Amino acid sequence: MTEHPNSSVISRYAGGDLALDEATVWSIEVHLEECADCRARLAGSAPDDVLTLLDRVSNGVGQGIAAGPAPIPVRRRWSAARNRWLVWQMVPWLTMTAAILVCAVMLQALQPSLPSLVLLLAPVAPLPAVAVAWSRGSDPAWELIASTPAAGLPMLLRRTATVLVLIIPMLGLATDRTGVSLALALLPCLAFTTTAIALGAFIGVRLATLGLAAAWGAGVALPAVFTAHLPVVLQPGSLGVWAFIAVASAAFAMTRADRFLKRR
Ligand SMILES: [Zn+2]
Repeated sequence: MTEHPNSSVISRYAGGDLALDEATVWSIEVHLEECADCRARLAGSAPDDVLTLLDRVSNGVGQGIAAGPAPIPVRRRWSAARNRWLVWQMVPWLTMTAAILVCAVMLQALQPSLPSLVLLLAPVAPLPAVAVAWSRGSDPAWELIASTPAAGLPMLLRRTATVLVLIIPMLGLATDRTGVSLALALLPCLAFTTTAIALGAFIGVRLATLGLAAAWGAGVALPAVFTAHLPVVLQPGSLGVWAFIAVASAAFAMTRADRFLKRR
């Protein structure tokens, strides 16, 4: 054991004297760890205001324990919904998607010669919201969620389902207004969503949605607008292919579920 520090050093340490150099503080702390006598001397040499504060805290804790646990406030359902991350994080993206679809419906009414913009937009409509649903940067509770057993693919699927539940009625309304086939809007929408998740297992969901949206825009949507022809992939004959892509990519994503815990 090191030498007992003298009383004046102990009381300066107890009072938080900034003039004590680090080597002295360190040697006092090492000594206090193994010397019960000096710990007792330290407890007695704390300044009066510290002792008063400790008494007050100790009384408060004692009263709190005696009073028993405080009743847990019952949360109302609406306040639970208000606190849900997804609800508020989705609002701007869903509003943007809805606004774009409204524009597409209006443009189609004004320019009936153009191929259906609603159909051209339907496959990529859910992608921004899906990207946000799995974005590390936009989720303040990410570290917490990522460490739970429910993280990974099941959570991504739940969030994606929420996105689809909100997007599908929008597409239903848009196709109803423009008189195009609902199936031709929904199946590509579903196929793009499942493909984004399947690709997301390898390159991350965010990058997958960006890549798919860019590929669809450059490869199909823009050429269709410029040539004023509905592309063959959006003709009624293509429905079977879209259904196959949706089922196959969903099944593939399930087999790669473990990758979603690593790939963020
Ligand atoms: Zn000692």
